[in-house]
Amino acid sequence: MKALTVKPHVKDSIQMRDVPDPARRNPEVKVRVIRAGLCGTDADIYEGNYGEPPPGDDFLILGHENFGVVEEAGQNDAGLKPGDFVVSTVRRPCSKCLNCQHGEMDFCSSGEYTERGIKGRHGFMAEYYVESPQYLIKIPPELQDIAVLLEPTSIVEKGIDHAYLIQRRITWQPQMALVMGAGPVGLLAAALLAARGLRTFVASLEAATDPRAEAAQSLGAQYLCLKDISLTDLPKQIGAPDLVIEATGKSSVVFAAMQMLAPNGVLCLLSVTGGSAIRPEPTDVINQDLVLRNSVVFGSVNAHPRHFKKGVEDFESIEKARPGALQKLLTTRLPWEEYGKWFGQKRSGIKTTLEISR
Ligand SMILES: [Zn+2]
Ligand SMILES: [Zn+2]
Repeated sequence: MKALTVKPHVKDSIQMRDVPDPARRNPEVKVRVIRAGLCGTDADIYEGNYGEPPPGDDFLILGHENFGVVEEAGQNDAGLKPGDFVVSTVRRPCSKCLNCQHGEMDFCSSGEYTERGIKGRHGFMAEYYVESPQYLIKIPPELQDIAVLLEPTSIVEKGIDHAYLIQRRITWQPQMALVMGAGPVGLLAAALLAARGLRTFVASLEAATDPRAEAAQSLGAQYLCLKDISLTDLPKQIGAPDLVIEATGKSSVVFAAMQMLAPNGVLCLLSVTGGSAIRPEPTDVINQDLVLRNSVVFGSVNAHPRHFKKGVEDFESIEKARPGALQKLLTTRLPWEEYGKWFGQKRSGIKTTLEISR
Protein backbone atom coordinates (compact mmCIF):
# COMPACT_ATOMS: atom_id res chain seq x y z
CA MET A 1 0.00 0.00 0.00
CA LYS A 2 0.98 3.64 -0.28
CA ALA A 3 1.99 5.59 2.82
CA LEU A 4 3.29 9.07 3.59
CA THR A 5 6.53 8.68 5.54
CA VAL A 6 9.38 10.66 7.08
CA LYS A 7 12.79 9.77 8.41
CA PRO A 8 12.45 11.13 11.97
CA HIS A 9 14.85 13.96 12.80
CA VAL A 10 15.71 14.50 9.13
CA LYS A 11 14.15 17.73 7.86
CA ASP A 12 12.22 17.54 4.59
CA SER A 13 12.57 13.75 4.31
CA ILE A 14 8.86 13.33 3.61
CA GLN A 15 7.95 10.93 0.79
CA MET A 16 5.10 8.79 -0.47
CA ARG A 17 6.34 5.21 -0.59
CA ASP A 18 5.12 1.63 -0.94
CA VAL A 19 5.03 -0.29 2.30
CA PRO A 20 3.64 -3.77 3.03
CA ASP A 21 -0.11 -3.93 3.74
CA PRO A 22 -0.63 -4.34 7.50
CA ALA A 23 -1.66 -7.88 8.42
CA ARG A 24 -4.74 -8.28 10.62
CA ARG A 25 -4.80 -10.84 13.45
CA ASN A 26 -7.94 -11.48 15.51
CA PRO A 27 -9.41 -9.57 17.22
CA GLU A 28 -7.82 -6.67 15.35
CA VAL A 29 -9.72 -4.59 12.82
CA LYS A 30 -8.40 -3.47 9.43
CA VAL A 31 -9.41 0.08 8.56
CA ARG A 32 -9.30 1.86 5.21
CA VAL A 33 -8.28 5.46 5.83
CA ILE A 34 -10.61 8.06 4.32
CA ARG A 35 -8.85 11.20 5.44
CA ALA A 36 -6.24 12.50 7.87
CA GLY A 37 -6.01 15.93 9.49
CA LEU A 38 -2.83 18.00 9.54
CA CYS A 39 -1.59 19.97 12.54
CA GLY A 40 1.44 21.57 14.14
CA THR A 41 2.70 18.22 15.41
CA ASP A 42 2.92 16.91 11.83
CA ALA A 43 4.75 20.10 10.85
CA ASP A 44 7.19 19.64 13.76
CA ILE A 45 7.92 16.06 12.70
CA TYR A 46 8.43 17.20 9.10
CA GLU A 47 10.87 19.86 10.36
CA GLY A 48 12.87 17.14 12.10
CA ASN A 49 12.17 18.42 15.63
CA TYR A 50 10.12 15.50 16.77
CA GLY A 51 9.04 11.94 15.91
CA GLU A 52 10.34 8.42 16.44
CA PRO A 53 10.05 5.37 14.13
CA PRO A 54 8.67 2.04 15.36
CA PRO A 55 11.35 -0.41 16.56
CA GLY A 56 13.04 -2.06 13.55
CA ASP A 57 12.01 0.61 11.01
CA ASP A 58 14.01 3.62 9.88
CA PHE A 59 10.89 5.53 8.79
CA LEU A 60 7.65 6.67 10.39
CA ILE A 61 4.26 6.72 8.67
CA LEU A 62 2.90 10.15 9.59
CA GLY A 63 -0.61 11.03 10.73
CA HIS A 64 -2.52 11.03 14.01
CA GLU A 65 -5.76 12.92 13.22
CA ASN A 66 -7.76 10.26 11.39
CA PHE A 67 -11.05 9.01 9.99
CA GLY A 68 -11.71 5.72 8.20
CA VAL A 69 -14.03 2.82 7.52
CA VAL A 70 -13.72 -0.77 8.72
CA GLU A 71 -12.56 -3.00 5.85
CA GLU A 72 -12.14 -6.33 7.67
CA ALA A 73 -13.09 -7.45 11.16
CA GLY A 74 -13.39 -10.79 12.90
CA GLN A 75 -15.48 -11.35 16.02
CA ASN A 76 -14.75 -8.47 18.34
CA ASP A 77 -16.12 -7.22 21.65
CA ALA A 78 -16.75 -3.76 20.22
CA GLY A 79 -19.10 -5.25 17.59
CA LEU A 80 -17.26 -3.45 14.77
CA LYS A 81 -18.06 -4.73 11.30
CA PRO A 82 -17.09 -3.84 7.72
CA GLY A 83 -18.62 -0.54 6.67
CA ASP A 84 -18.57 1.02 10.15
CA PHE A 85 -16.94 4.44 10.32
CA VAL A 86 -14.21 4.77 12.97
CA VAL A 87 -11.68 7.16 14.46
CA SER A 88 -8.66 5.68 16.22
CA THR A 89 -7.22 7.02 19.44
CA VAL A 90 -3.51 7.87 19.26
CA ARG A 91 -1.63 6.98 22.45
CA ARG A 92 -0.83 3.43 23.58
CA PRO A 93 0.26 2.43 27.10
CA CYS A 94 3.74 1.69 28.37
CA SER A 95 4.19 -1.62 30.16
CA LYS A 96 5.27 -0.32 33.51
CA CYS A 97 3.53 2.74 34.99
CA LEU A 98 0.54 2.73 37.31
CA ASN A 99 -1.50 5.09 35.13
CA CYS A 100 -1.06 3.04 31.95
CA GLN A 101 -1.97 -0.10 33.90
CA HIS A 102 -5.24 1.64 34.77
CA GLY A 103 -5.96 2.67 31.17
CA GLU A 104 -4.89 6.28 31.78
CA MET A 105 -2.29 6.37 29.00
CA ASP A 106 -2.74 10.12 28.71
CA PHE A 107 -1.20 10.35 32.21
CA CYS A 108 1.69 7.95 31.47
CA SER A 109 4.36 8.72 34.05
CA SER A 110 7.25 6.67 32.62
CA GLY A 111 7.32 8.63 29.34
CA GLU A 112 7.57 5.30 27.53
CA TYR A 113 4.11 5.47 25.95
CA THR A 114 3.88 5.26 22.16
CA GLU A 115 1.73 7.36 19.82
CA ARG A 116 0.54 6.48 16.34
CA GLY A 117 2.14 8.71 13.73
CA ILE A 118 4.28 10.45 16.34
CA LYS A 119 6.29 8.25 18.68
CA GLY A 120 7.27 4.62 18.08
CA ARG A 121 4.18 3.57 16.05
CA HIS A 122 3.13 4.11 12.47
CA GLY A 123 0.34 6.59 11.87
CA PHE A 124 -2.70 6.92 9.65
CA MET A 125 -1.45 8.62 6.46
CA ALA A 126 -1.61 5.29 4.65
CA GLU A 127 -4.23 3.39 2.70
CA TYR A 128 -4.86 1.00 5.60
CA TYR A 129 -4.06 0.43 9.23
CA VAL A 130 -4.76 -2.35 11.70
CA GLU A 131 -5.81 -1.70 15.29
CA SER A 132 -7.26 -3.39 18.37
CA PRO A 133 -10.99 -2.65 18.61
CA GLN A 134 -10.57 -1.19 22.11
CA TYR A 135 -8.79 1.82 20.56
CA LEU A 136 -11.39 2.48 17.87
CA ILE A 137 -14.29 4.89 18.35
CA LYS A 138 -17.37 4.14 16.25
CA ILE A 139 -18.68 7.16 14.37
CA PRO A 140 -22.37 7.62 13.48
CA PRO A 141 -22.70 7.99 9.66
CA GLU A 142 -24.22 11.47 9.99
CA LEU A 143 -20.91 12.71 11.47
CA GLN A 144 -18.70 11.31 8.69
CA ASP A 145 -17.90 14.73 7.20
CA ILE A 146 -16.57 16.20 10.48
CA ALA A 147 -15.24 13.12 12.31
CA VAL A 148 -11.64 13.89 11.30
CA LEU A 149 -11.93 16.71 13.88
CA LEU A 150 -12.52 14.20 16.68
CA GLU A 151 -8.87 13.67 17.66
CA PRO A 152 -8.10 17.38 18.22
CA THR A 153 -11.52 17.69 19.89
CA SER A 154 -10.57 14.95 22.35
CA ILE A 155 -7.65 17.12 23.55
CA VAL A 156 -10.07 19.94 24.33
CA GLU A 157 -12.66 17.61 25.88
CA LYS A 158 -9.98 16.40 28.29
CA GLY A 159 -8.94 19.94 29.24
CA ILE A 160 -12.53 21.01 29.93
CA ASP A 161 -13.41 17.76 31.71
CA HIS A 162 -10.42 18.13 34.02
CA ALA A 163 -11.15 21.78 34.69
CA TYR A 164 -14.61 20.74 35.92
CA LEU A 165 -13.14 17.80 37.88
CA ILE A 166 -10.64 20.10 39.59
CA GLN A 167 -13.41 22.53 40.44
CA ARG A 168 -15.25 19.91 42.44
CA ARG A 169 -13.09 21.42 45.21
CA ILE A 170 -15.84 24.06 45.56
CA THR A 171 -19.38 24.91 44.53
CA TRP A 172 -18.69 26.15 41.02
CA GLN A 173 -21.15 27.59 38.56
CA PRO A 174 -18.99 29.09 35.80
CA GLN A 175 -20.68 31.77 33.70
CA MET A 176 -17.96 32.88 31.36
CA ALA A 177 -15.12 31.25 29.45
CA LEU A 178 -12.31 32.79 27.46
CA VAL A 179 -10.37 30.92 24.79
CA MET A 180 -7.02 32.38 23.83
CA GLY A 181 -6.19 31.55 20.21
CA ALA A 182 -8.39 30.87 17.18
CA GLY A 183 -6.59 27.89 15.68
CA PRO A 184 -8.45 24.59 15.34
CA VAL A 185 -7.95 23.73 19.03
CA GLY A 186 -9.14 27.16 20.19
CA LEU A 187 -12.19 27.08 17.93
CA LEU A 188 -13.10 23.54 19.01
CA ALA A 189 -12.76 24.67 22.64
CA ALA A 190 -15.09 27.59 21.92
CA ALA A 191 -17.62 25.22 20.34
CA LEU A 192 -17.63 22.89 23.37
CA LEU A 193 -17.79 25.70 25.95
CA ALA A 194 -20.60 27.51 24.15
CA ALA A 195 -22.45 24.18 23.88
CA ARG A 196 -22.16 23.87 27.69
CA GLY A 197 -24.04 27.14 27.94
CA LEU A 198 -21.12 29.35 28.98
CA ARG A 199 -20.84 32.89 27.67
CA THR A 200 -17.77 32.21 25.54
CA PHE A 201 -15.19 34.57 24.08
CA VAL A 202 -12.37 33.80 21.67
CA ALA A 203 -9.45 36.26 21.66
CA SER A 204 -6.87 36.11 18.89
CA LEU A 205 -4.81 38.24 16.54
CA GLU A 206 -6.82 37.70 13.35
CA ALA A 207 -9.02 40.54 12.16
CA ALA A 208 -12.73 40.41 12.99
CA THR A 209 -13.43 39.68 9.31
CA ASP A 210 -11.11 36.64 9.23
CA PRO A 211 -12.73 33.22 8.58
CA ARG A 212 -11.51 32.16 12.04
CA ALA A 213 -13.48 34.98 13.66
CA GLU A 214 -16.53 34.05 11.62
CA ALA A 215 -16.13 30.39 12.57
CA ALA A 216 -15.97 31.35 16.27
CA GLN A 217 -19.21 33.30 15.93
CA SER A 218 -21.04 30.57 14.08
CA LEU A 219 -20.02 28.17 16.86
CA GLY A 220 -21.69 30.42 19.43
CA ALA A 221 -18.74 32.44 20.74
CA GLN A 222 -17.98 36.16 20.62
CA TYR A 223 -14.74 37.07 18.87
CA LEU A 224 -12.27 39.68 20.15
CA CYS A 225 -9.43 40.88 17.94
CA LEU A 226 -6.29 41.44 20.03
CA LYS A 227 -5.15 44.10 17.59
CA ASP A 228 -8.03 46.27 18.80
CA ILE A 229 -7.69 45.54 22.51
CA SER A 230 -4.65 44.73 24.66
CA LEU A 231 -4.44 41.60 26.78
CA THR A 232 -4.41 43.65 29.98
CA ASP A 233 -7.55 45.56 28.96
CA LEU A 234 -9.43 42.42 28.02
CA PRO A 235 -10.99 41.72 31.47
CA LYS A 236 -12.05 45.38 31.73
CA GLN A 237 -14.09 44.93 28.59
CA ILE A 238 -15.57 41.47 29.06
CA GLY A 239 -15.22 40.81 32.82
CA ALA A 240 -13.10 38.17 34.51
CA PRO A 241 -13.45 34.66 33.05
CA ASP A 242 -14.15 31.67 35.29
CA LEU A 243 -12.34 29.38 32.87
CA VAL A 244 -9.56 30.24 30.44
CA ILE A 245 -8.30 27.82 27.79
CA GLU A 246 -4.91 28.82 26.42
CA ALA A 247 -4.37 27.56 22.87
CA THR A 248 -2.29 30.23 21.14
CA GLY A 249 1.00 28.34 21.00
CA LYS A 250 2.69 31.34 22.65
CA SER A 251 4.02 30.93 26.19
CA SER A 252 4.03 34.70 26.87
CA VAL A 253 0.21 34.71 26.81
CA VAL A 254 0.12 32.27 29.72
CA PHE A 255 1.24 34.86 32.28
CA ALA A 256 -1.28 37.43 31.11
CA ALA A 257 -3.99 34.75 31.28
CA MET A 258 -3.05 33.96 34.92
CA GLN A 259 -3.83 37.56 35.85
CA MET A 260 -7.26 37.61 34.20
CA LEU A 261 -8.98 34.84 36.11
CA ALA A 262 -12.08 35.46 38.20
CA PRO A 263 -11.83 34.47 41.88
CA ASN A 264 -11.63 30.63 42.15
CA GLY A 265 -11.03 30.45 38.40
CA VAL A 266 -9.13 27.88 36.35
CA LEU A 267 -6.62 28.25 33.55
CA CYS A 268 -6.05 25.23 31.32
CA LEU A 269 -2.88 25.23 29.20
CA LEU A 270 -3.05 23.30 25.93
CA SER A 271 -0.21 24.81 23.85
CA VAL A 272 2.89 22.70 23.31
CA THR A 273 5.47 25.50 22.97
CA GLY A 274 8.65 24.04 21.54
CA GLY A 275 10.80 27.19 21.78
CA SER A 276 13.23 28.34 24.45
CA ALA A 277 12.06 31.92 25.15
CA ILE A 278 13.13 33.63 28.37
CA ARG A 279 11.43 36.86 29.39
CA PRO A 280 10.81 38.93 32.52
CA GLU A 281 7.37 38.66 34.15
CA PRO A 282 5.87 40.45 37.23
CA THR A 283 6.25 37.36 39.39
CA ASP A 284 5.21 38.95 42.74
CA VAL A 285 1.96 40.25 41.26
CA ILE A 286 1.21 37.00 39.47
CA ASN A 287 1.92 34.93 42.56
CA GLN A 288 -0.22 37.17 44.76
CA ASP A 289 -3.07 37.05 42.23
CA LEU A 290 -2.99 33.27 42.12
CA VAL A 291 -2.95 32.95 45.92
CA LEU A 292 -5.58 35.56 46.76
CA ARG A 293 -7.96 34.28 44.10
CA ASN A 294 -7.57 30.54 44.81
CA SER A 295 -6.62 30.13 41.16
CA VAL A 296 -5.71 26.86 39.49
CA VAL A 297 -3.36 26.64 36.52
CA PHE A 298 -2.90 23.24 34.94
CA GLY A 299 -1.48 21.70 31.78
CA SER A 300 -3.22 19.01 29.76
CA VAL A 301 -2.06 16.77 26.93
CA ASN A 302 -3.54 13.91 24.92
CA ALA A 303 -6.89 12.38 25.95
CA HIS A 304 -8.58 9.33 27.41
CA PRO A 305 -10.85 7.25 25.12
CA ARG A 306 -13.82 8.61 27.10
CA HIS A 307 -12.96 12.08 25.80
CA PHE A 308 -13.27 10.81 22.23
CA LYS A 309 -16.69 9.39 23.14
CA LYS A 310 -17.75 12.68 24.72
CA GLY A 311 -16.57 14.39 21.53
CA VAL A 312 -18.93 12.24 19.46
CA GLU A 313 -21.85 13.18 21.74
CA ASP A 314 -20.96 16.87 21.56
CA PHE A 315 -20.60 16.76 17.76
CA GLU A 316 -24.13 15.35 17.57
CA SER A 317 -25.60 18.10 19.73
CA ILE A 318 -23.59 20.90 18.08
CA GLU A 319 -24.65 19.66 14.65
CA LYS A 320 -28.28 19.82 15.78
CA ALA A 321 -27.99 23.29 17.29
CA ARG A 322 -25.66 24.79 14.67
CA PRO A 323 -25.80 22.69 11.51
CA GLY A 324 -22.67 23.02 9.36
CA ALA A 325 -20.73 25.18 11.85
CA LEU A 326 -18.10 22.52 12.63
CA GLN A 327 -17.72 21.73 8.94
CA LYS A 328 -16.55 25.32 8.42
CA LEU A 329 -13.34 24.48 10.30
CA LEU A 330 -12.33 22.09 7.49
CA THR A 331 -11.21 24.77 5.07
CA THR A 332 -8.78 22.92 2.79
CA ARG A 333 -9.08 19.39 1.40
CA LEU A 334 -5.98 18.19 -0.45
CA PRO A 335 -5.79 14.96 -2.44
CA TRP A 336 -3.07 13.25 -0.41
CA GLU A 337 -0.60 13.14 -3.34
CA GLU A 338 -0.54 16.95 -2.96
CA TYR A 339 0.90 16.83 0.57
CA GLY A 340 3.72 19.11 -0.65
CA LYS A 341 1.24 22.00 -0.77
CA TRP A 342 1.09 21.94 3.04
CA PHE A 343 4.41 20.67 4.42
CA GLY A 344 7.05 23.36 4.44
CA GLN A 345 4.64 25.91 2.92
CA LYS A 346 3.05 29.09 4.13
CA ARG A 347 -0.41 27.95 5.16
CA SER A 348 -3.80 29.59 5.23
CA GLY A 349 -7.27 28.47 6.27
CA ILE A 350 -8.16 26.69 9.50
CA LYS A 351 -7.81 22.90 9.18
CA THR A 352 -6.32 21.12 6.18
CA THR A 353 -7.03 17.44 5.52
CA LEU A 354 -5.38 14.94 3.23
CA GLU A 355 -8.07 13.04 1.35
CA ILE A 356 -6.77 9.46 1.16
CA SER A 357 -9.75 7.47 -0.17
CA ARG A 358 -13.48 7.86 -0.66
ZN1 LIG B 1 -2.88 17.06 15.77
ZN1 LIG C 1 2.89 4.60 31.20
